[in-house]
Amino acid sequence: MSKTNNFFVKYQESRFVEEKARVRLIEQLRHGYSNEARDLAHRMSICGDRRETSDNSIYCRQPACPRCKRAYARNQARAIQDWMADAQRSDLSLVTVLLGVADRAGDVPRMCVERRAKLTPLAG
Ligand SMILES: [Zn+2]
Repeated sequence: MSKTNNFFVKYQESRFVEEKARVRLIEQLRHGYSNEARDLAHRMSICGDRRETSDNSIYCRQPACPRCKRAYARNQARAIQDWMADAQRSDLSLVTVLLGVADRAGDVPRMCVERRAKLTPLAG
């Protein structure tokens, strides 16, 4: 199987790249000029370690942390699987809504609200 078609290899490569970026970010924060930056670097550096007092892991809960991102994605996937456990194929629908091109990222929430308002009469 070629390397580009192997999901596991792609996942491992992606994880490797994310972990390298995480280490770089921690190093930059460690050399930051504020106590908050150094505190954040410490929290990110111990993220994923086991607590001494229990068998649970420590999570820094920072959006830039790939370990927390993966844990969040796992929890979301479990929640969706539980929520959809009794769903039949006929219960599922998929709709793609194209919003258009935003000039600024900050425009996206407004575009979502406007598009939702236009779609609501169709749902009823
Ligand atoms: Zn984290």
